[in-house]
Amino acid sequence: SQVRAFSYQSLPMRVVMGPGVLGRLADELDAAGLKRVLILCSPPQQALGEVVAQLIGDRAVGVCPHARMHVPVESAAAARDRVAELGADGCVAVGGGSAIGLGKAIALELGLKIIAVPTTYAGSEMTSVWGLTENGRKRTGKDPRVLPVSVLYDPELTLSLPALASATSGMNAIAHAVEALYAPDASPVISLMAEEGVRSLAAALPAVVAKGKDLLARGDAQYGAWLCGACLGATTMSLHHKLCHALGGTLDLPHAETHTVVLPHALAYNQPAAPDAVAALQRALGGVDDPATALWELAGRLSTPRSLRELGMEEDDIDQIVEQVLAHPYANPREVTADGLTRLLSRAWAGEPPA
Ligand code: NAD
Repeated sequence: SQVRAFSYQSLPMRVVMGPGVLGRLADELDAAGLKRVLILCSPPQQALGEVVAQLIGDRAVGVCPHARMHVPVESAAAARDRVAELGADGCVAVGGGSAIGLGKAIALELGLKIIAVPTTYAGSEMTSVWGLTENGRKRTGKDPRVLPVSVLYDPELTLSLPALASATSGMNAIAHAVEALYAPDASPVISLMAEEGVRSLAAALPAVVAKGKDLLARGDAQYGAWLCGACLGATTMSLHHKLCHALGGTLDLPHAETHTVVLPHALAYNQPAAPDAVAALQRALGGVDDPATALWELAGRLSTPRSLRELGMEEDDIDQIVEQVLAHPYANPREVTADGLTRLLSRAWAGEPPA
């Protein structure tokens, strides 16, 4: 073993968690000094957006139900216009990564504070990573201004999240923690959070999928999502995220499902070069031998897709993804080669177990 050496920068983070905490939104607005907020959500969650607006009375100046996956620049511009028109001094983003991403885009350009009320397990609310998509290309960056000033995790708001979206957004969060464990800037505190996040989510997701109304399991999944999201916010992403960004950006594959399919394969690739991460995941997943296989089996138990083919990818697309990943590589514990990537993607495409 080696002498410890690391640097650690904690991000400011205020978390309020528990059934019914949505009712404390007005207090959170007061604490942040916000008097006129615009509520942001995706189109299917407009009714929830209206409920949130009613809850805070005249402190809500409007509801903008136009959040879209990967934040198209047009929807960010339209939301900023609404902010200006209504004289809003902040935003409340209610929903998954798409609604929170829209809030981040507004915070990035206008410097407004955002409060997040997550309703999936993707974990975006815990990171200062923003993304904007223009002409099919997604730009991302890190900026501390986009980090929500307060996050309300109310498990009652996730009761309506369908089984598939619950499972795949939870696997997306697990991927954040997995890569934090072998990140070049991994640190002991973040590794503790990563291990606990994986433990909590992996234990909760089967119950969430089997009994969608299980509030206890939903709360445990949200606790795990918080920890896993915080891990992503604190570290540098590696091969798994690079692959998912290339697959999502180039082939338009669905975000959370893609993470779910790729994770066991990316982890299997990196396991030989990341013994400490393997040990942490063995503990987190209940004493398993091979964490990559255990995550593949977990996806099976959750009845999620396990092949890129099912997500609409053609086998011929493998080569261009390999090229892209090699052209602009992310950090990675194990050397990334064309042969290794082709093998990894071929297995993930066909739905074979990781190896
Ligand atoms: P999402 O926000 O796109 O939501 C998917 C759908 O589920 C939407 O139609 C939404 O309205 C609906 N939905 C959400 N919660 C619901 C609920 N409780 N009940 C019923 N329907 C509900 O999905 P996501 O997986 O949360 O987010 C994906 C996006 O987040 C991607 O664009 C991804 O790039 C981004 N993301 C960013 C980060 C980051 O750190 N910046 C991290 C993770 C994900």
